[in-house]
Amino acid sequence: MNEAPINVLDLDLPALTEQVKAWGQPAFRAKQLYRQLWVNQRESFDDMSDLPAPFRELLKETAAISTLRNLLVRRGDGGLTRKAVFALPGNETVEAVLMVYPGRATVCVSSQAGCPMGCTFCATAKLGFRQDLSPGDIAQQVLWAQRELAKVPNDLDSGAERHRVRGPGDVPERLTNVVYMGMGEPFNNYQNWRRSVDLLHDPAGFNFGARNFTVSTVGLVPGIVKLMDDPLQINLAISLHSADDAIRSDMMPVNRRYPIADLLDAVRAYTAKTHRRVSFEYVLIAGKNDDLHEARKLADMLLEKGKFPMHVNLIPLNPVVDSGMTRSSRDRVNEFRDYLENLGVPATVRIQRGKDIDAACGQLAGDLAKELAAAEG
Ligand code: SF4
Repeated sequence: MNEAPINVLDLDLPALTEQVKAWGQPAFRAKQLYRQLWVNQRESFDDMSDLPAPFRELLKETAAISTLRNLLVRRGDGGLTRKAVFALPGNETVEAVLMVYPGRATVCVSSQAGCPMGCTFCATAKLGFRQDLSPGDIAQQVLWAQRELAKVPNDLDSGAERHRVRGPGDVPERLTNVVYMGMGEPFNNYQNWRRSVDLLHDPAGFNFGARNFTVSTVGLVPGIVKLMDDPLQINLAISLHSADDAIRSDMMPVNRRYPIADLLDAVRAYTAKTHRRVSFEYVLIAGKNDDLHEARKLADMLLEKGKFPMHVNLIPLNPVVDSGMTRSSRDRVNEFRDYLENLGVPATVRIQRGKDIDAACGQLAGDLAKELAAAEG
């Protein structure tokens, strides 16, 4: 029986050292291999020329550099937005999106294939839960984005200027932000999500700064409580989307388990302990949660127990096919923001990216998963 290959991206340096010794190699080979994976970001064992040929052959037989297979990359916004779809061994699919801005570059990664949380405005929810991603599978999406970013300066087209990127010099060499806002709920896969942060943060490897990670949750209170005690300064974003329990429960079933008051208590405790600013994500849906009395309710609720470090990100909905929901008008989005600001709640409108590549997050991956299943009969 063929055993599944060992995913070397799942292993931190101590674990990789143990594995390398188990392969009968001296321990220092682990450091070489680790460097090739995380510093040089090699995609193939054949490209690791400092490893002896017999060891490379052994690696090719027994190990893999992650298990995600890149199915396609779609470009938008003049080449500044790139969405990749990856297949897992069982043909489940996940997405990652690279977004380049003047002087910064963000990758949004998936932590699960599909998602069990059932948010009604989300394409990924329609897939249901498929599987958790391993730490290496999550981190591999970041490595893809770093490699893709290197191509961007020589691969821009005219649409890029609309986003204030006038030429290659405006494109950073390194990713500046990793956000866990793709498919899945990271706190539902807490351990693997958190291990992916450690792998990417390791100064001996990819060396990505802790303050440049953002994890986004639908509001799983136990995850927020856990993160409070984390020594790393990871940013926290909460998908809020309504200040009204009835509306929020309708949009996000998780609200029945952790209603808004409990969620906000956890967030206040988090900011009191960590002194870190929390972002609230608020997707604006026409006629659903975009009335100005909703803005009033939101401000009252956020401020009722005193100010704490926070910020509201308003995101016009990226409509999901057949959902019957549409995004709020531009005027309403701006009114909503101004209203919050006037009440003392810092708010910004998130610049939308990737409208020209496909619809909402999860839709492209979902379509490709269906195609793969059909191709396999
Ligand atoms: S919005 Fe996020 S948590 Fe909700 S179903 Fe979609 S992927 Fe899951």
